[in-house]
Amino acid sequence: MEGCIFCKIIAKEVPAALIYEDDFFVAMLDIGPVHQGHTLVIPKDHHATFLDMPDDLAKDYAHVIKVLSPAIMESMGAQGVNITTNVGSAAGQTVHHAHFHIIPRFKGDGLQHWPQKEYEEGEMDKIVESIKKHL
Ligand code: 5GP
Ligand code: ZN
Repeated sequence: MEGCIFCKIIAKEVPAALIYEDDFFVAMLDIGPVHQGHTLVIPKDHHATFLDMPDDLAKDYAHVIKVLSPAIMESMGAQGVNITTNVGSAAGQTVHHAHFHIIPRFKGDGLQHWPQKEYEEGEMDKIVESIKKHL
């Protein structure tokens, strides 16, 4: 995909700190890490988001992430990881080539998760029904 920075990295036109590569995926260090070792796992084929990927590839994706995450944790001395993908600009996606973040986390590292709201009476039931209708 023309103009896509991740496609350029995969084509080796732009350098990156690659930690893993197979026929379908690469993993590299994020240039703007939340913590050292913050890794991006990327399908070699251009798909705008995780939800645009074929099911079989998405299943293999889970396996690669599952193999990489403990290696990242152990090498960085982390006690946990956040495994996350942003789907769409509204969700914070800035590079529109699918990628998962594996972010090492440390006890007491001070990072806050997103704020939480409360449901009003009856609201949860309506939302459950609405989502079920779309399945
Ligand atoms: P998003 O906000 O789309 O979920 O995440 C995109 C991530 O890609 C960001 O964390 C950003 O630091 C990283 N990134 C953007 N351009 C490059 C690049 O050229 N090389 C590397 N290694 N990471 C990049
Ligand atoms: Zn791309």
